[in-house]
Amino acid sequence: MAATTAPQRTGTIRVEDLTKVYGAGETEVRALREVDFEIASGELVVLLGASGSGKTTLLNIIGAIEPATSGTVEVAGHDLAGMDHHQRTAFRRDAVGFVFQFFNLVPTLTAVENVALVAELTGPDAEDRARETLGEVGLADRLGHFPAQLSGGEQQRVAIARALVKRPPVLLTDEPTGALDLDTGRSVLRTLQRAAREQGCTVLMVTHNAVIADMADRVLRLRDGEIVGDDANAAPVDPEDLAW
Ligand code: ADP
Ligand code: MG
Repeated sequence: MAATTAPQRTGTIRVEDLTKVYGAGETEVRALREVDFEIASGELVVLLGASGSGKTTLLNIIGAIEPATSGTVEVAGHDLAGMDHHQRTAFRRDAVGFVFQFFNLVPTLTAVENVALVAELTGPDAEDRARETLGEVGLADRLGHFPAQLSGGEQQRVAIARALVKRPPVLLTDEPTGALDLDTGRSVLRTLQRAAREQGCTVLMVTHNAVIADMADRVLRLRDGEIVGDDANAAPVDPEDLAW
């Protein structure tokens, strides 16, 4: 194995003095203000805040989708500020999985084909790995279904499998239950919790729903671009026991 290119498996996230400013002059928006925190590998952290508090901005910077204005962001051993365009692309492909509110599946491909689409980038056994990962998210009996034949929660679990098939050290997810009802939302949360517990994946989940925070190992609270709370949860609740 080439030591120079092998990504570090540990999914630590370190954010120091992070500021993000959009625009300039009269239209300037300070979306993040001197944000500091560290997340240990394998932790399931909920990032909680009202609409407009800066959650998506923070997640996108950690995922190298957007650049920071200033500060340090280190993810799975990579210093994002020091990376060029090519390295950021490789980082997004290898080090992080993304799950969004709207599942973004390809409608004309089956569940297994949607997941294999990503796996094909990284190996010849794509279909086998896609099947295995769909099994891990509880969809072993839905492999040949098209998105339109699946419930919203099942579609989101296909999207989670698509993110996990690469075995990324870090999973970033933005309002993953935002488009789902309570029951299907719970199945998605259970799947995310298992990714952390059983695969040691660091999971950072953005939500504006305070109830969901009860299932996290730790809750970071964001208000107007600032971290206003950082609380460990001694007894994370089983997603089955959440109601909203
Ligand atoms: P949240 O995800 O918590 O709802 P966002 O991170 O989307 O919040 O937005 C934080 C702030 O930054 C808001 O005031 C928003 O209007 C602003 N913002 C987000 N993206 C942009 C952008 N591309 N250009 C200008 N302002 C933006
Ligand atoms: Mg958002």
